[in-house]
Amino acid sequence: MIPYGRQHVDDDDIAAVVRVLKGDWITQGPHIDRFEEDLARSVGARHAVTFSSGTAALHASAAVSGLAPGDEGVTTPLTFVASANCLRYVGAEVCLVDIDPSTLNIDLSLVPPTDALVAVHFAGLPVDLASLPQRPRVVIEDAAHALGATTPDGPVGNCAHSDMCVFSFHPVKHVTTGEGGAVTTNSDDLAEGLRRFRNHGMVRKDEQGGWYYEIESVGFNYRMTDLQAALGSSQLLKLDRFVERRRQIAAQYRQALADLPITLPPEEPRGWRHSYHLFPIRVHGDRRRVYDELRQAEIGVQVHYVPLHRHPIYTASRAIPEGLPSATKAYEELLSLPLFPALTDAEQGRVVQELTRITASL
Ligand SMILES: *Cc1c(COP(=O)(O)O)cnc(C)c1O
Repeated sequence: MIPYGRQHVDDDDIAAVVRVLKGDWITQGPHIDRFEEDLARSVGARHAVTFSSGTAALHASAAVSGLAPGDEGVTTPLTFVASANCLRYVGAEVCLVDIDPSTLNIDLSLVPPTDALVAVHFAGLPVDLASLPQRPRVVIEDAAHALGATTPDGPVGNCAHSDMCVFSFHPVKHVTTGEGGAVTTNSDDLAEGLRRFRNHGMVRKDEQGGWYYEIESVGFNYRMTDLQAALGSSQLLKLDRFVERRRQIAAQYRQALADLPITLPPEEPRGWRHSYHLFPIRVHGDRRRVYDELRQAEIGVQVHYVPLHRHPIYTASRAIPEGLPSATKAYEELLSLPLFPALTDAEQGRVVQELTRITASL
């Protein structure tokens, strides 16, 4: 089976992890600091704080923003459930705002007055946050799909229009640490809060003794290990190459699929860089049959995503507009084709061939 996405780990990545295993620290040692510096530099942010997963990083972002019961946050229905769950973790309500079909991202012109926005850069095409009509108190970017993407305001992660930006290092994402995540921010206070939150809420008070700490707020153990951080730094060296290969595969799909009865994914505006986490086509006709037949042909297509308003915990959430027509329609048609740096041209050729065969009889 050709999967829709997978990691690319080389011998130098493996050697980097083995070196840590033979050293003194296997968690929260020097490799964490280095990976955080590498990531912050790579995206142009003042701080990067690593976590045990992207989901933990989203939870921490919502918590240090001060979001609490009585608050409401807005996000897109076309995302992984963690983008909305992070609001629920801190007791905030979720309001779902429909997508703009021309980008598959949240339609910012529909965002009501609210406390927070979790902006998801769907498939790797950044949301145009510069066009946000009214900035809520808290703006968090869920950039799990968008490491390596840029807008005219610079790399995603530089927080040009947000308080914090969240990344995931799950194996299908642009670089991997096994499981892992990070938050970037330009705020010293938020960075300090994030570091506390991932480490039980501990505050050291050395003046009372070298051992002494106090807990001033409830935190978690959301720490990344040094093994993972070493893998992350090694992978980050290849980010540009990975994203360029993803973009090349996307360009080849656009050319090879141009005449098929499908809609190709939204393109990047001039001056933007799409990082192509996904290549989500829209199938007009029996999407289920196309999915099943491609799977039978050992091509691991996927649907991103079952929209949030289909999940029982979100069916009763506020939705703008009622019924979320654009996201509902997109969900009925979307299908993500295999796209990852190690996909060979021959494998891609097979995907094109099978998709051409199957859609010919739609
Ligand atoms: C992958 C992903 C996450 C969660 O990341 P994990 O590291 O798997 O916890 C959150 N949001 C989106 C949009 C994602 O794709």
